[in-house]
Amino acid sequence: MVVIAKRLPEPRLAWQIATVQAIQRETPRVKTITLRLPDWMRHRPGQHYDVRLTAPDGYQAQRSYSIASEPEREGEIDLTVEQAPDGEVSVYMCEVLVPGDLMEVRGPIGGYFVWETSMGGPLLLVAGGVGIVPLMSMLRHRAVVGAEVPVRLLYSARSLEDVIYYQELEQLARTSPTLEIYYTLTRKQPPGWQGYARRVDGPMLQEVTASFVGAAQGPATRVYVCGPTPFVEVAANALVDIGVPPEQVRTERFGPTGGSA
Ligand SMILES: Cc1cc2nc3c(=O)[nH]c(=O)nc-3n(C[C@H](O)[C@H](O)[C@H](O)COP(=O)(O)OP(=O)(O)OC[C@H]3O[C@@H](n4cnc5c(N)ncnc54)[C@H](O)[C@@H]3O)c2cc1C
Repeated sequence: MVVIAKRLPEPRLAWQIATVQAIQRETPRVKTITLRLPDWMRHRPGQHYDVRLTAPDGYQAQRSYSIASEPEREGEIDLTVEQAPDGEVSVYMCEVLVPGDLMEVRGPIGGYFVWETSMGGPLLLVAGGVGIVPLMSMLRHRAVVGAEVPVRLLYSARSLEDVIYYQELEQLARTSPTLEIYYTLTRKQPPGWQGYARRVDGPMLQEVTASFVGAAQGPATRVYVCGPTPFVEVAANALVDIGVPPEQVRTERFGPTGGSA
């Protein structure tokens, strides 16, 4: 007897209805939305979910959002969303959603821009703006499991008020001697600012990695770059220019994901 197996959709890619559990303001333009998932599945730090909104007339818009929380937190995930000017989905998520609302999501998605402690290090993380989100999942995971994989994070934001998770990042760096964080504030710096004050470039990356135990040019260092597409292009090219082997650099571009129907 021949059994013809019907090809079912991968369970992890099925849409499910999440409940908005909590909403927290991170910066003037960014909010974190905690979603409770009926079909929660452990993710790998760096992965994302797709969000799909459906209007009463059937119009749909779909976007991707990285998971900010660590995989060890069961049953729910955090998405951190920056409100894009006139953005279709991000404005809805930042301005309209309230706790108790239901949302259609699917995930976790992605197998390339991921890191977990079993993969080792050292790690060089480079974030532009909201590009910190998947890197934060990696840092939270590292902290929760108590790993001391050496990490350097270079985080570019417009101003100190725009640094997402600032207090938590500072706390993580205080409690882990092998985590070092460098900020560059490109538009506005507080009085007495000691950090960088320009866009990420080759000399900055060279300085940040020079004294690193796993200098970025070393064969074992894993490099993750995330942010808006132009930021990622510049940072990734600059890394290669200072001698980092391209195959060690993983990038995630937060460009438009399209997806209106
Ligand atoms: C893998 C992945 C992970 C991501 N993770 C995150 C995350 O963690 N957090 C996050 O905030 N974002 C993330 N993004 C980006 C996110 O998916 C959306 O692209 C973002 O929220 C903007 O969507 P939107 O619907 O609000 O804006 P859209 O409606 O898509 O518009 C985007 C911008 O383009 C402008 N625009 C739209 N149409 C036009 C037009 N015709 N002409 C000129 N300008 C126009 C809008 O003004 C707006 O500023 C991720 C993207 C990817 C691919």
